[in-house]
Amino acid sequence: MIDGFGRSIDYLRISVTDRCNFRCTYCMPEMQSFLPHPDLLSYDEITTLVARFIDHGIRKIRLTGGEPLVRRDIAVLINALGQHVKSGALEELTMTTNGSRLEQFAPILASAGMKRINVSLDTLDPEQFKTISRGGDLDTVLKGIHAAKANGLAIKINMVALKGENEDALIPMMAFCAEHGFDLTLIETMPLGTGVSEREAQYISLDAFTAPIRQQYDLHPLAHKSAGPARYWRVDPLGLRLGLITPMSQNFCDHCNRIRLTTDGKIYMCLGSELHVDLRKALREGVPSDVDHLLQTALRLKPQRHEFENQFAQPDLRLKRHMNATGG
Ligand code: SAM
Repeated sequence: MIDGFGRSIDYLRISVTDRCNFRCTYCMPEMQSFLPHPDLLSYDEITTLVARFIDHGIRKIRLTGGEPLVRRDIAVLINALGQHVKSGALEELTMTTNGSRLEQFAPILASAGMKRINVSLDTLDPEQFKTISRGGDLDTVLKGIHAAKANGLAIKINMVALKGENEDALIPMMAFCAEHGFDLTLIETMPLGTGVSEREAQYISLDAFTAPIRQQYDLHPLAHKSAGPARYWRVDPLGLRLGLITPMSQNFCDHCNRIRLTTDGKIYMCLGSELHVDLRKALREGVPSDVDHLLQTALRLKPQRHEFENQFAQPDLRLKRHMNATGG
C-alpha cells in the first residue's frame, strides 16, 4: 500500500479494546465511558480484516488499546494472529501493554510467536506510579515484566516524559533497563482527547527532559530502525539503547508507515487526524470487496503530517478521541 505522499504502509496497529484498568493522567480522564460491547469488532471480524490487510501488504501488527490484556479471551485472538507469524505471512506480531497482566499472559504471547513487546512504565517509584496511573500497582507490573523476560520476550520500556512528574525517574529507569537488557523509549505527550486538563502543565520536550543525562552520560546516534517512529541512541557507559519519540518537537511523519484499526472497526490513517473509513460497517452490511475499496480510499486520506503542535497551541482544535480509542 502506497499513500498519496509515496509512503509505503506495512504496519498496522490494532486497538483490541478501549478499556483499561489504569487511567494514566495524560491518556484519559478518570471518569471515562467506553464502547458498548456490540460496537467492538469480534475476534472473527478482526481476523477477517487482518487477512485482507496482509493481502494488501501489511507485514507487522501491534496489538494495543486500551489495555489489550484486559479483553476477555484475548488469547484466542493472539493465537489466531500468531498463525500468520508462523506461516511467514507476517514478519512480526507484537503488543503494547501496561504490564499489569503480563505475569499470566507472558507464556501465551511467547508461544504465539511474539518476540518482543513494549511495556509502558513511567516511573519506578511505587507512589509516583500509583499517582500517574491513577491506582496502578508497580510491583505487579514489575513481576509481569520479569515474567516476560523469563519467557524470552525482548522488552522495550515506553516512558512518557511528564514535566514535574517523572523527570527525577529518568536516571533510575535508565539504570533499571540497562541492568535487565531492556531498551528504553521516551515519548513526548501528545494533546489527544478532551477532558485531560493537565496537557499544558505536563508537556516537556525530550531535549529538555534528557538534558540531565547528557551531562552524565555519552549519547551516540545509532542507525538502528524499528517499525515505529523512534530515533535511537546508545547511552555509554550504560550500554543502553535509548529511543526518542518526538511528535511535538521534531516531526517524523515523512517516514510514517502506519495505519490504525480502532476497537470499533474504523481505520485511522493518522493518530493526529479525524480522517477515517468505517470497515465495520462494510464488514457487517456490505460485501467483502467493500473492505478492499475502503482501504484504497483510506490510503488517499492519509494526511502528510499530524497537527499536534497546532492542537497543543489551540485547545479548540484538539481531537476528541483519546489514545485508548485509536491505540498507542
Ligand atoms: N495499555 C497499553 C499501555 O499502557 O501500553 C497500550 C495502550 S497505551 C494508550 C499505548 C501508549 O500510549 C502508552 O505507552 C502510553 O504511555 C501512550 N500514551 C497514551 N496517551 C498518550 C499521550 N497523550 N501522549 C503520548 N503518549 C501517550
